[in-house]
Amino acid sequence: MKSKNDLKISFNALKVLQKRYLLKDEDGNIIETPEKMFKRVSKAVAGADNLYNDTDAYKTEKKFYRAMSGLEFLPNSPTLMNAGTPINQLSACFVIYIEDSINGIFNALKHMALIHKSGGGVGFSFSKIRPKGDVVKSTKGVASGPTSFMKIFDVATEVIKQGGRRRGANMGILDIRHPDIIEFITSKEHEGVLTNFNISTAVDDEFMNAAVNNEEYDLINPRNVKHVKKLNAGKVFDTIVNTAWKCGDPGIIFIDEINRKNTIPNAGIIEASNPCAEQPLLNYESCNLGSINLTKMVKSGKIDFNKLKSVVETAVHFLDNVIDINNFPISKVETETLKNRKIGLGIMGFAEMLIMLEIPYDSQDALDTAEKIMKFVTYHARKVSAELGRLRGSFPNFKGSIYDKNGFQAMRNATVTTIAPTGTISIIADTTSGIEPLFAVSFIRDVMEGEKLLEVNKLFESTAKKEGFYSKELMTEIAKKGSIQNIDEISGSIKRIFQTAHEISPKWHVKMQAAFQKHVDNAVSKTVNLPNNASPEDVKEIMLMAYKLKCKGITVYRYGSKKQVLYLNSYQG
Ligand code: UDP
Repeated sequence: MKSKNDLKISFNALKVLQKRYLLKDEDGNIIETPEKMFKRVSKAVAGADNLYNDTDAYKTEKKFYRAMSGLEFLPNSPTLMNAGTPINQLSACFVIYIEDSINGIFNALKHMALIHKSGGGVGFSFSKIRPKGDVVKSTKGVASGPTSFMKIFDVATEVIKQGGRRRGANMGILDIRHPDIIEFITSKEHEGVLTNFNISTAVDDEFMNAAVNNEEYDLINPRNVKHVKKLNAGKVFDTIVNTAWKCGDPGIIFIDEINRKNTIPNAGIIEASNPCAEQPLLNYESCNLGSINLTKMVKSGKIDFNKLKSVVETAVHFLDNVIDINNFPISKVETETLKNRKIGLGIMGFAEMLIMLEIPYDSQDALDTAEKIMKFVTYHARKVSAELGRLRGSFPNFKGSIYDKNGFQAMRNATVTTIAPTGTISIIADTTSGIEPLFAVSFIRDVMEGEKLLEVNKLFESTAKKEGFYSKELMTEIAKKGSIQNIDEISGSIKRIFQTAHEISPKWHVKMQAAFQKHVDNAVSKTVNLPNNASPEDVKEIMLMAYKLKCKGITVYRYGSKKQVLYLNSYQG
């Protein structure tokens, strides 16, 4: 469907935009078209060029507009929603520090509220909070422990989200050595608990070795750094596995791998990441993301690397400009973010691009393509960032960073690439999210009470028409079955290319995540889908594989287990 002025926006994209992105007046009437939204964002972000005398802001505005309205590049949702408005908070990702004191905990809670209100998601490490039953000197009372404080953050999120356009998402992290670790691991076991949190255990190499060898490891009280007791690492790891098998949480964050790849070790140690774990950050850092739509980078059945290079250049310029005009919700976040100027450029539509290239997702060819693309994106993104650094100044923590040590003269951003989930912006771009496989080739969407709409993936529809097996009856049958794998009319090669998330074996999901991680500065958002009949042993194998392949974290989703889906809203009609 085309909206005004030939902007090619799909029906679902238009609905999402109307519901939550386009500006409204006080009575709730929409006062903006998608085209005007892209103009508002381009103008506001290009405006940062005026702070420097190196570019023509008007030309930049046109360049940004072309990339966005052509659905070649989209920034994260807060930028689309807020740029050029009085809120002007443009980042999706934050990490807030929680100190072990009532003052510290409730300060963090307030910071979370301010961030959620402006459309961002927050990650916290709860590891510094003293364990349950520990002493509280001032009152001679007993401490209640990190998990009970998490519940307060959860309730506050629930209340605040009523007022926002985007639901507040949180990541709660606990170090594997914290005495309350078992309570934390199992904290989401029951339905309806901590629904606004994803939770992850931060595990280090020493623990992983102990787990594999079934050895004991130490639990430490963070208040006085005293050894509390020992647990069997193998058993604790099995508890993580069994709970994740049951409900999808907790995920794991491989904290040593994250810090080995920390580009600014001179600035501190990373302890936490944002809600979907694709963006590890130092305390009080924020990061703005943006993603390139790979389906727009295919020309005559091949990847158009010239075009990709030019969109990468535009995107890095855009994301760096965002930092200059961003209205940070907390002054400490502003100070810390400006020291490192992290940006996270990623991709979306990877699975659809593979289909266009006729490459099956679960193939060596797909892994090679993933690596080739991401290496290219990161290489060119760094090149632009180095050039911007030369013109506009390096990020202040440059000295002592890995770039400095590797002979770079300048660098504008401490990190340049991240693979975001792109939960909503992929709907706006009308493509598959991030690096995930197809969700379905055909499905029935509940539009309104009783009304149902048949939706067929656009690439599948055109293939079906070209191959002569398209009929509405067949598409409905596929939607009901949820798969094309047992349909006789469809050839084997088409079945191979149009495999959906649950038809791809879990190991291939991990391999794909690892292939991208090799060339990404930050981390990769990826859900590893497992069939409903997968065993806890299968989950364990996947988690160990992710560690071995140097992923920075891992999240599993067993079909039908009760994992809360963060982006449910986006997928509803
Ligand atoms: N996020 C959030 N609330 C949401 C969705 C996302 O706070 O409802 C944050 C969260 O930190 C997440 C990040 O935005 O990791 C990026 O998510 P995604 O790429 O799905 O966002 P999009 O830009 O597509 O809306």
